Amino acid sequence: MSSSAIAKRITTIAQGVSGLLDVVNDSRYLAARSDPTICDFVFGNPHEAPIEEFSEALRRWTVPQNKDWFAYKMSEPEATSVVARTLRKIRGLPFEDEHICMTNGAFAGLAASITALVDPGEEVIFVTPPWFFYEGIVISAGANPVRVRCMEGSFDLDLKAIEAAITENTRAIIVNSPNNPTGKVYPPSTLEGLGDILRSASARFGRPVYLISDEAYSRIVFDRLPYPSPVGFYEYSLLIYTYGKTLLTPGERLGYIGICPSMPASSEVAQALFLAQAVIGWAFPNSVLQHALEDIEDLSIDIAGLQRKRDRMVEGLRAAGYEVHSPEGAFYLLPKSPVEDDKAFAEMLAESGVFVLPASIVELPGYFRISLTASEEMIERALPLFAEAIARVRSVEALPT
Ligand code: PMP
Repeated sequence: MSSSAIAKRITTIAQGVSGLLDVVNDSRYLAARSDPTICDFVFGNPHEAPIEEFSEALRRWTVPQNKDWFAYKMSEPEATSVVARTLRKIRGLPFEDEHICMTNGAFAGLAASITALVDPGEEVIFVTPPWFFYEGIVISAGANPVRVRCMEGSFDLDLKAIEAAITENTRAIIVNSPNNPTGKVYPPSTLEGLGDILRSASARFGRPVYLISDEAYSRIVFDRLPYPSPVGFYEYSLLIYTYGKTLLTPGERLGYIGICPSMPASSEVAQALFLAQAVIGWAFPNSVLQHALEDIEDLSIDIAGLQRKRDRMVEGLRAAGYEVHSPEGAFYLLPKSPVEDDKAFAEMLAESGVFVLPASIVELPGYFRISLTASEEMIERALPLFAEAIARVRSVEALPT
């Protein structure tokens, strides 16, 4: 994309997600997507029927009860009180209604937070490998993205590198736990360290460095591991959530920003977020979703079932000879590609009807990403094909040269 008719900012954003756009627009993938015999592990999209209670809740709350049913909606009290109650219960922090800004998903939560808090030309740090759109969201606010690599092997935050990356121009850092794509849940000791670094940087520069905590997958954690929210470790923080992962309904845009209850001047931040939500395109959830939230809040996909899929896939891939770690949360696996060129290996898998995401697209060359939202049946069909692919690579390598 380089047309002079397009804004330069969008051209830059397009360059940052060009690998993703290549996958989305790949004609073979597009043609194969409706073929029930393929194995599609590319994105965190549903491959099975939605939760029935979710559909029922939408049907129930579509029926208007008063003249304002479909009027402009902001952060409606009927929704914010449900969220605040949940956050008090599951995060143990004293959230009240006024700390909650309802958004149409985490996309909007992130964009509104950066628009509200960061001035053009300021820096926003994020951790790599990153989620595809951090860079684009930062650029779209006129700010400058700064990458910090996670720790090799453990995928934990590299606190020293974060500390070194903070300058007087740093306004915010985005942290994502459980992490897409690594599956890492940052432990309390790491988050305490992060809080200390941000607190001392804020004191040094005389203004807050905000922590934007992308908690899209916070209700998808395995092995009964506790989930420490980064927001519990630092007062200048915003909790970003989307229901799209927990319910596996990313097309129904529902989420929120939770302002850390101990944030100083939190009502000013709430005002700024409201305005940012308005000007980025009325980034509030549709009325039906807000009315229905009470009935939706406690629903979830089957996490135990997802964990079984994780275990089956990790075990099957390891048995076939792949190197793969077992994620603590979120719904992705990151096997090492048996050939250095992950795009070439993804191509090879695609020839046998197995579609994966080459992880060079998320700044992790030499790996590929598998979404565990695939059905069990798809996983069982795919495992022998994964085994065949690695065997083929190994047999070529074994040939005398
Ligand atoms: N953050 C992360 C880490 C994600 O993986 C996603 C979705 N893939 C989002 C934010 C955006 O979520 P939503 O589409 O529900 O707004």
